[in-house]
Amino acid sequence: MELNQRMKRIYLDNAATTACAPEVVEAMLPYFTEVFGNASSIHAYGREAKRAIEAARRQVARALNAAIPQEIIFTAGGSESDNWAIKGAAFSRKEKGRHIITTAIEHHAVLHTCQWLEKQCGFEVTYLPVDADGKVSAAAVEKAIRPDTVLVSVMAANNEIGTLQPIAEIGTVCRARGVLFHTDAVQAVGAIPLDVQAMNIDLLSLSGHKFHGPKGVGALYVRKGLKLDNLIHGGAQERGFRAGTENLPGIVGMGRAIELAAERLTENAQRMIRLRDRLITGIMERVPEVRLNGHPTDRLPNNCNLSFKYIEGEALLLRLDLAGIAGSSGSACTSGTLDPSHVLLAIGLPHAIAHGSLRLTLGADTTDEDIDAVLDRLPPIVQDLRAMSAMNASNML
Ligand SMILES: *Cc1c(COP(=O)(O)O)cnc(C)c1O
Repeated sequence: MELNQRMKRIYLDNAATTACAPEVVEAMLPYFTEVFGNASSIHAYGREAKRAIEAARRQVARALNAAIPQEIIFTAGGSESDNWAIKGAAFSRKEKGRHIITTAIEHHAVLHTCQWLEKQCGFEVTYLPVDADGKVSAAAVEKAIRPDTVLVSVMAANNEIGTLQPIAEIGTVCRARGVLFHTDAVQAVGAIPLDVQAMNIDLLSLSGHKFHGPKGVGALYVRKGLKLDNLIHGGAQERGFRAGTENLPGIVGMGRAIELAAERLTENAQRMIRLRDRLITGIMERVPEVRLNGHPTDRLPNNCNLSFKYIEGEALLLRLDLAGIAGSSGSACTSGTLDPSHVLLAIGLPHAIAHGSLRLTLGADTTDEDIDAVLDRLPPIVQDLRAMSAMNASNML
C-alpha cells in the first residue's frame, strides 16, 4: 500500500517523543531573542532570565506537589536525571552500604547506570523480576531490602508496555525502612496524577519532551534535606547542585508544558483511555492471534502494545510507515542488535512472539479519525505479512 496524497500521516509514537504544544512554543519564543540573559548575571538581563527560571520551577513543583520549589532542579533530560539520582544517591550513601534495588524492566538510563555502578564501583544490584503484566509488588521490594540497601529505583510507568507500578505502596515501604526511593516518572508525568509528598518519593525524574514540552530539558525532584552528590560539576548554577548555564527557553517551555498537562490531565486521560481501548479492541476484533502486552487496566492512558504472531515487528513498522502510520516495535533493532526488548522478555514472552511486537502510543492531539485510519490500514498489512511468512515457511520445507 502506497501512501497517497490524501492519506493523513498519523503519529502514534508519543512514548518516544511528543510535539511541542503551540502554547509551549509561544511561551519559549521571547527567551531566544528578547530575554536571553545568563541567569547568573547580576544585570537586568540576567535577573529577568532568573525570574523566568524560578517561575518555571514553581510550575514544576506545583504539578508534583513538591513542598518547596527548591526541590526541583533542572537537568538536560530524563537520562541525566536518572543518572544523577542513582549515582548521586549511591555515592552519597556508600559508607552506609552498597546495595541497590531496581526492576528488570527499567529504562536503559536506569539499568545501564546500575550496571556501571556494579562494574566500576563495587555496588550490588538486585533486579526484581516482574509478573506477566509487568508489575512488581511492594512486598517484593520489601523482601529484597537488606541492611546495606541504600536506594530503591522503580519506574512509575513503563515506556514500552505502559504498566503502572504501585509507587505509593513502594514509597511507604522505603520510608518505613529508611531507604531512599527514586522513581523514573518520565512516562508518568502529565499522564497520571503524581504527588511526591503523599507517595513518599525522595527522588523523581522527568523530561520535558514526553509531555508536549521541548527536548533536552528535564528535572530531578530532590526531597528537601536530602544530600546528593553532584553529577555535573562546574559553576554554581542551580544552587551548586547542577553546573552549566541553564537552558532558559527549554526550562520556560517545560514549565508551561507541565502546567498545561496538569490542567488537562483528567480530561486528556479520559479521552486517551477511550481512544486507546477503541484501538486495542478494534485491532483484536479484526486480527486473529494478537496479544496485549502490559497490564490490561493499570496502564498508561496512551499505551497500546501488541504482539502479532508469525510476523516481525520491524517489517510491520516499515509497512505501517509506508501507510502513513508511525509506531515503534518491541525489538531493539534500532540499537544495532536483534535482541528483543528486555521488557518483553521480562514479562515472559518467547523470543518469537516478542519479535512480533508493536507499540502505538497516543498523544494529546490523537483523534477518533486517527484510530479509524489505523483500524483500516493495519489489518490488511498484518494479513499480507503473515501470508508472506507462511509462504517462506512452506518454501523451506
Ligand atoms: C524517554 C525516557 C527516558 C529518557 O529521557 P530523555 O529525556 O530522552 O533522556 C527515561 N526513562 C523513561 C521511562 C523514558 O521514557
